[in-house]
Amino acid sequence: MKVFWVDAEKPGGAELDDWSFRVGDLARRVDVWRIGPLHVRGRAIASRGVCEVRGRVLAEVGYRCSRCLGAVEDLVDAPLQEVFARAPLSREQVEADVVHSPGEAIELDTCAEQAIFVGLRAQVLCSPLCKGLCPVCGSDRNTASCACEAERIDPRWEALGDAVRRGGE
Ligand SMILES: [Zn+2]
Ligand SMILES: [Zn+2]
Repeated sequence: MKVFWVDAEKPGGAELDDWSFRVGDLARRVDVWRIGPLHVRGRAIASRGVCEVRGRVLAEVGYRCSRCLGAVEDLVDAPLQEVFARAPLSREQVEADVVHSPGEAIELDTCAEQAIFVGLRAQVLCSPLCKGLCPVCGSDRNTASCACEAERIDPRWEALGDAVRRGGE
């Protein structure tokens, strides 16, 4: 999405309320399989060739549980804050990460995408109790019980396991 300098320079600036593009590279994270279209909300206020954009970026995100790889849907709501300058940047502006935007319009896709990437959760579980996948046969321990686990049990615990199983019957 873009905002025109002439609109941002009006009194009160320009309101941003737009569905933006779809993210292409999914933040290069193997545990993110989907990021929905970005919804940018906020305001762009410009004066004397400097435009400040403040708002939020929202997107539905499909993660994979880091233990069982099951799908986990979540909403990312990340702050958006960026300053653009129309004239070539001064040294201070470069150091302050101001973005040079000399055209008629300011392109917001890149900063919206970055805001979402920063807002992604670090490690996602489908449930705090997720049992994950069996490292031997790969079956989902939340839905299936395999025999691998029993084989790995220390023989000293086997008698106790038998007792527990008998008690549960
Ligand atoms: Zn899980
Ligand atoms: Zn198994």
